[in-house]
Amino acid sequence: MKQVQKPKKPLIVYYLIALAALILINWVIFPMMTQGNITEVDYGTFLTMVENKEVSKVQLEGETIYFTDKNENPQQYETTRFEDPDLVNRLVESGCEFGRVAEEEMNPWLSLLLSLVIPIIIFIALGQLLSRQLMKKMGGGEGGGPFMQFGKSNAKVYVQSETGITFNDVAGEDEAKELLTEIVDFLHNPQKYQEIGAICPKGALLVGPPGTGKTLLAKAVAGEAGVPFFSISGSEFVEMFVGMGASKVRDLFKQANEKAPCIVFIDEIDTIGKKRDSQGFAGNDEREQTLNQLLTEMDGFDASKGVVILAATNRPDTLDPALLRPGRFDRRIPVELPDLKGREEILKVHAKKVRLGDDVDFNAIARAASGASGAELANMVNEAALRAVRENRKYVTQSDLEESIEVVIAGYQKKNSVLSTKEKLIVAYHEIGHALVAALQTNSAPVTKITIIPRTSGALGYTMQVDSEERNLMSKEEIENKIATLTGGRCAEELVFGSITTGASNDIEQATKLARAMITRFGMSDRFGMVALETQANPYLGGDSSLSCSPETAAHIDDMVVNAVKEAYDKAMNLLRENQGKLHELAKYLYDRETITGDEFMEILNQRDLADTEIRNEDSENGNSGNTESGENTAAKLTIENE
Ligand code: ADP
Ligand code: MG
Ligand code: ZN
Repeated sequence: MKQVQKPKKPLIVYYLIALAALILINWVIFPMMTQGNITEVDYGTFLTMVENKEVSKVQLEGETIYFTDKNENPQQYETTRFEDPDLVNRLVESGCEFGRVAEEEMNPWLSLLLSLVIPIIIFIALGQLLSRQLMKKMGGGEGGGPFMQFGKSNAKVYVQSETGITFNDVAGEDEAKELLTEIVDFLHNPQKYQEIGAICPKGALLVGPPGTGKTLLAKAVAGEAGVPFFSISGSEFVEMFVGMGASKVRDLFKQANEKAPCIVFIDEIDTIGKKRDSQGFAGNDEREQTLNQLLTEMDGFDASKGVVILAATNRPDTLDPALLRPGRFDRRIPVELPDLKGREEILKVHAKKVRLGDDVDFNAIARAASGASGAELANMVNEAALRAVRENRKYVTQSDLEESIEVVIAGYQKKNSVLSTKEKLIVAYHEIGHALVAALQTNSAPVTKITIIPRTSGALGYTMQVDSEERNLMSKEEIENKIATLTGGRCAEELVFGSITTGASNDIEQATKLARAMITRFGMSDRFGMVALETQANPYLGGDSSLSCSPETAAHIDDMVVNAVKEAYDKAMNLLRENQGKLHELAKYLYDRETITGDEFMEILNQRDLADTEIRNEDSENGNSGNTESGENTAAKLTIENE
């Protein structure tokens, strides 16, 4: 996609040219026209010629005297006047004509031309130049006069050799690839379809969360199809002038029709394809016009000619229904977040470009990076390579990749953090609280890593859980366990220190969200059963949801959410209380090491020592207050030890 850009002359150049033209006219052309051939003589000569009656006509202009002699081809002279009161008498005596320079000396047409027409011409020329510059800035294509550029679509045309991206560069997303392959096949062998009477889909809409490879897929289609590929982003239709969007759409389809068979790709189509709603004020007429034009064009062209329209969006819910009906974007291709296998493949695709150590295990990385999008995975591989360079290694190791997952999820390590000893201790207990609750609940995934090294994202520490296998469903019990795990951090703080901190804000948010979703969306409450009380507006971006129930129900839901989280909290608290010995042991271990692996964690957890049982017995005798106290004591001891 090389686009050679002509070097733009700065505007000032044109101003200078115009100025030079004006100066030229003033200094060279004007004097030339008025002067003709004038001989300059002195005043004495003039007087002599007057006395000899050789002068036929005299004209005064200020101090200058122009005069003509009486020769066959009269010669013009010029002289400068002296203080000469007798001049008039002398002229009368000699009998020549005299007077002041007449205003209409110059040809009236010529003067009109000079004073009016030329400036107008200059202005028009300047205006043209300016508008041409403007059009260039707004990305008008080549060809056509300067004013013909308005409304040109500036779609980039790719041809196969230029993108160099094929389906091999897109890992995972097999279903999407399959559906797109059919379209490519249609462009290659249209007769195969026509014989049966099948009509190829006119358009396909790629929908999915950001970074899952929608744009990449479209480019791969261009690479595979070997036909011209027009790529334009929805936002490029939005222009400074009203009506430009529509005319760009028209132009895009005109170009596409000329180049058929070809593919037109409109990225981020939601910019122009938003629902046209009647509410509110005048709305956005310009956008509606553009959309209408797009709808018209999509109806207008003949699919059998081989123009296929691809579009991508991560907000399918906002699209106008008219766009989605059969005959327009009648094929919807979901491009979802990659599953475990997909993640592994994506990692491999991107790791092809980096040198790898022998110990790299993509499966493990893919498992740890659950929920990551293709773009994030690509980023992880790159971060790992950067880390390897930073540490002067020649290849990327497994630990580079592991660290880069954390970098992508939680940001970089804050090397010289300013956590006080007490804070660090609280964080250690908090994280062990999460991990312990997770491990003690039968269905919770084992922790893989716990760290209390602060990250640039603001996390002071975190527990990484990796599911051993991919899961798509979560049972009610698992959700409840997860909520309990989330509350585990705060529980440990309260249990050990008797006071609570702000460190749990993120946990609280997540726990609340889960508890609420259980009731309003997953139908997991006894009271409401399978009634949807909330609808999710956009599944791909953040998932804002809106409540659709009466205020009383809403109040009730709130109560139930509070209860659900509270129950989970109590459950976590009990678990920690029962395993207080382990809690202290593990927290101290983490405090010393700052980062521990899941295996180390499990090893310590599984060494059931006597102390633990003793403490437990003590707990059951003493009740709550006793617990907190003993916790505080241990914590205090621990602090002293480490100071
Ligand atoms: P979007 O879906 O937001 O359009 P992009 O197609 O722009 O995402 O993907 C961004 C980048 O992420 C790509 O350039 C590519 O490097 C990487 N990527 C995303 N998905 C995949 C995938 N399935 N296979 C390989 N790389 C991918
Ligand atoms: Mg994109
Ligand atoms: Zn936490």
